[in-house]
Amino acid sequence: MRAILERLIAFDTTSRNSNLALIAWVEDFLRERGVASQRVANGDGSKANLYARIGPDVAGGIVLSGHTDVVPVDGQPWSSDPWVVTEKAGKLYGRGVADMKSFLALSLAHVDAALAAPLKRPIWLAFSYDEEIGCLGAPAMIDEMAQLGQKPGAVIVGEPTSMKVISAHKGIRTFWVEVIGREAHSSLPHAGVSAIMEAQKLMQLIAEIGAGPREADHFDPPGASMTIGMIEGGTAINILARRCLFGCDLRAPSQAEGDAIEARLRAAAAKLDADIKARAPEGGVKITRRSMTPGLEMAPESAAESLARALTGDNEIRAAAYAAEAGLFQRAGMPAVLCGPGSIEQAHQPDEWIELSQLDEGARFMQRLITHLSA
Ligand SMILES: [Zn+2]
Repeated sequence: MRAILERLIAFDTTSRNSNLALIAWVEDFLRERGVASQRVANGDGSKANLYARIGPDVAGGIVLSGHTDVVPVDGQPWSSDPWVVTEKAGKLYGRGVADMKSFLALSLAHVDAALAAPLKRPIWLAFSYDEEIGCLGAPAMIDEMAQLGQKPGAVIVGEPTSMKVISAHKGIRTFWVEVIGREAHSSLPHAGVSAIMEAQKLMQLIAEIGAGPREADHFDPPGASMTIGMIEGGTAINILARRCLFGCDLRAPSQAEGDAIEARLRAAAAKLDADIKARAPEGGVKITRRSMTPGLEMAPESAAESLARALTGDNEIRAAAYAAEAGLFQRAGMPAVLCGPGSIEQAHQPDEWIELSQLDEGARFMQRLITHLSA
């Protein structure tokens, strides 16, 4: 398991990079064991999902799902090489040890045990790309898996949950908002339209939505949230900016709430667009939805719930504020939960770590799964 994890971490699969070297390594790993796998590549062939079945070709198998990409380490103060697994005081450090290559490593480390076991139903591996930039890779693979004659019956998405069961996650939509104004000398503000100062009006609305009010639910924070993560605009302090571009995200507990907030944002943008055009006809506001990942809705009676509860002994109801691929599986008719080693608290951080005890717990989970599917 440790050697597999070290190998996976060594591939710099930051989402902007190709993940094909990692995928090829996993293909070889499986091929050496007689396991066939299917690639589902992106448009230009630079990235791929991979799925594989271990065990009999019957319905009702269990999918172990994980993403192969990781978030960037740029600008983060790491005390060790992020691409080399480093052990210190009962913890392993490295980019992706929590989110979520330890789950991939655990899945692969149990392939031999699964092959040796008298599985009555199969274990599926489903490894995706571009999860961290809006779950862009998984949908094509999930579409294929949903068409399988012997469709899987439940999905464990191994995001870092400290091996607790998470039954719901928010949906996420990301947007680019481009505001175009008209340049002018800043001593003559009436002669132009500052795209930055106009964009700020929409950003104000986003900040208000982001601040609530919120009704209590299973999510922390409860309700929907919005943040602005990127901005650029202007060329000089004394020039009214012609263009301002910012990127924002919307995380909502339900599709309906997400739709309502998006409509509110678009209505405000349309009004601002008209205001700007009245002063600078060439200007305006354009909103582009860059990604949309459905949320995972609570399904307490689902096959994924009962399986994960049985394997972990965990019976608390939890919901995650971050988005994951579980909602995509659920919408394709494959019930899903989140359950994986490590904590989301360490995900995306410099010096990302996972406790060795989490890997032990993950290994016990995999062994129980194999036993369960052999019964
Ligand atoms: Zn993740």
